[in-house]
Amino acid sequence: MEINQLVRKNIAAMEAYSSARDEFKNFDKEMIFLDANENPFDNGINRYPDPQQKKLKHQLSVLKNIPESQILLGNGSDEVLDLLIRAFCEPNRDNVITLPPTYGMYGVLANLNAVENREVILLDSFQPDIDKILEVIDNNTKIIFICSPNNPTGNLIEEDKTITLLENFNGLIVLDEAYIDFSDAESWILKLENYKQLVVTQTLSKAYGMAGIRLGILYASEEIIDVLNKIKPPYNVNALTQLEAIKRLNKNQVAKDEIVSIKREKEILSKQLLEVKFIEKVYPSNANFILIKVDNATKRYNQLLANGFVIRNRSSQPLCQNCLRITVGNEEENKQLIKTLKTIQNG
Ligand SMILES: *Cc1c(COP(=O)(O)O)cnc(C)c1O
Repeated sequence: MEINQLVRKNIAAMEAYSSARDEFKNFDKEMIFLDANENPFDNGINRYPDPQQKKLKHQLSVLKNIPESQILLGNGSDEVLDLLIRAFCEPNRDNVITLPPTYGMYGVLANLNAVENREVILLDSFQPDIDKILEVIDNNTKIIFICSPNNPTGNLIEEDKTITLLENFNGLIVLDEAYIDFSDAESWILKLENYKQLVVTQTLSKAYGMAGIRLGILYASEEIIDVLNKIKPPYNVNALTQLEAIKRLNKNQVAKDEIVSIKREKEILSKQLLEVKFIEKVYPSNANFILIKVDNATKRYNQLLANGFVIRNRSSQPLCQNCLRITVGNEEENKQLIKTLKTIQNG
């Protein structure tokens, strides 16, 4: 497949915007920067950030064993997903396919960009309905979004399902791996070499505990990265975000230990949820949240709220009638939650 034939014509014809800091960056001696109208008084952040986030990309490159040229960073995954739609989908003509129940932002971003969102509901097993997807694809279908582990269901999408799509679809397959670090599966970034049209997104918002800094990561073939670099805002990842991300990744073991603890807590919580009378089903989870089916989601949601717990009611999503999604907290929070659930179960 030729990536350049998938790109919107106006973007294929564009040159990347060149910012002041793009044009002058490789010097072997100390330079005096009088090019970007910055305030010269040093306070640590008076200079524009590196538009290509070299240091951070280098660190990720070593960590994930992937060339820097195959990494794009953004202001959260939401930004990199938006860039993908804007680069590849012609407004009012092209379409994308999403697989509800899933992350809502794919549909929001499609809408925002006047791109049709063709929804193909998952099977009861929460796996993609491959026959239906292949039926819905047409010449204007540019992207299929697959979330694995899926939010809000928590399951992994089976590998052979994704491979069937990769081998039978002439567009991009975006694998959203926001929760991959909590799962037993290997990341699809290991397979990027085999599939030019594969895009993998990850984030520091969940396992790495940095939702506040907004750092989304996109891994793909160099062709795709080059296209996205043309249209990304030059300074889309701010200096503080780059600094904090580098610090956190330097102490990678801290995040790893936290992930182990969250996974252990999830196992404990899953078992204890089964003991609550009004909980009819606890879905297995490869993420840091648990989807449960209850007798009456609105009632139980409101009871928890009244007791100081904010969870997510996912009832309005297909296949999720009376389903609530609970993020795994720390040991103390989870204990309190179970205690409260057992108190309200007779109410
Ligand atoms: C939380 C989440 C993200 C993270 O988005 P950021 O913008 O990076 O915070 C991405 N995808 C899914 C499925 C999520 O649940």
